[in-house]
Amino acid sequence: PSRSDITYFGAGPALLPTVVLEDAAKALLNYHDTGLGIAEHSHRSQLASDIINRAKTDLASCLDIPDDYEILFMQGGGTGQFAATVYNFVGAWVARKLQDILGDTERDPTDPKAIEQLKEAVNKDLKIDYLITGGWSHKASVEGERLLGSEHVNIATDSRKTNGGKFGTIPDESTWKLSKDPAFVYFCANETVDGVEFPGFPQSLQPGPDGKGPIIIADMSSNILTKKIPVKNFSAIFFGAQKNLGPTGVTIVVIKKSFLPPVTSQPSSSLMRQLGLPIPPIIFQYETVAKNNSLYNTLSIFDVYIIGQVLRKFLQTYPDKVEGQEAVSNKKAQLIYDAIEAFPEIYKIIPNKAVRSRINICFRVTKGDDIDAAERAFLEEGVAQGLTGLKGHRSLGGIRASNYNSIPLEGAEKLAKFIRAFAMS
Ligand code: PLP
Repeated sequence: PSRSDITYFGAGPALLPTVVLEDAAKALLNYHDTGLGIAEHSHRSQLASDIINRAKTDLASCLDIPDDYEILFMQGGGTGQFAATVYNFVGAWVARKLQDILGDTERDPTDPKAIEQLKEAVNKDLKIDYLITGGWSHKASVEGERLLGSEHVNIATDSRKTNGGKFGTIPDESTWKLSKDPAFVYFCANETVDGVEFPGFPQSLQPGPDGKGPIIIADMSSNILTKKIPVKNFSAIFFGAQKNLGPTGVTIVVIKKSFLPPVTSQPSSSLMRQLGLPIPPIIFQYETVAKNNSLYNTLSIFDVYIIGQVLRKFLQTYPDKVEGQEAVSNKKAQLIYDAIEAFPEIYKIIPNKAVRSRINICFRVTKGDDIDAAERAFLEEGVAQGLTGLKGHRSLGGIRASNYNSIPLEGAEKLAKFIRAFAMS
């Protein structure tokens, strides 16, 4: 089959716009008449800086990112960020506590008494909080425990506890057990495997009237650029490029500048060692990446170029930016869910309705007695019609339709029609 015959619903990497790839094919051979391909130009060239800066500006424009946030292009995937968030925000917590201990005095920051007090604070008060609502937030919390020790990790909620050991809900906020002054509260805005999405920014994490609130970090790997987000409520947001932005290989971090120098500097490695806390590899230290405009080490400029092209196309398609895409994403999700819900005896949506994802639509085919056979038939007939990538995650089974931005409205219509026809066959 050719590209145009297929609507691909795989969970990631996702399809990229064909025109972007056609232009990229030319750019790989000869970028802007330089005689060199885009992947062959130095990351230290002016041309590379221009690509990075333009992608930053366009991303900020698409998502309405305020000026007091920095955008970092990193490597190591969302998984790398499970670690990077711990290193950097624990470092920021330590820097803050040390400041509190020293006060405005001229006390020497290496004063053994101050270090002793800091050690006590770490042992007693250092916590990182996770809201576990699916496989990815769970993995992040496991990484937090591995790096910091479980005594410093607070699972503020785990949806499996109130849902028979399974994901698929978000427990009521009144039941969350948040720590006092944690280094951060972490959640995954859209659980790609389990099909659970936070419907909005959690009420209990909202900043107060003074703009101050808990330090919030969110993994938005699978729903970035599909809805408007209140960036100012977050201290950091991260997402791999490979679902809605570009090829696999670049991870973007949007971080509030107050967590970077000159406002916050990471504690020295000798202090962290004295406190028994982990020291990040230099490529995971946000301040190093920020100081070097994401070029501390060799960045794949080709990947950033594609991201830039996707963002350009996004801005051309949606003059009202992410809100334009949000309306389309919602409409596509509605079409698919409506088709599934029209046949309750044939299909069962896995997550709870209030938190089901607009982006990763997870359901079972319960037609007949043999679910496996029914799902196999569903997948096979789908492929025959050019609807591919619908198999659920290996840990969950069932069907998963990933409704990323590369799925056109017609693609969602085609799937909805197939879901209805399969049910009636
Ligand atoms: N977080 C979410 C929500 C994801 O969907 C994924 C991957 O699919 C990851 C994190 C991990 O990303 P990576 O594979 O780039 O490390």
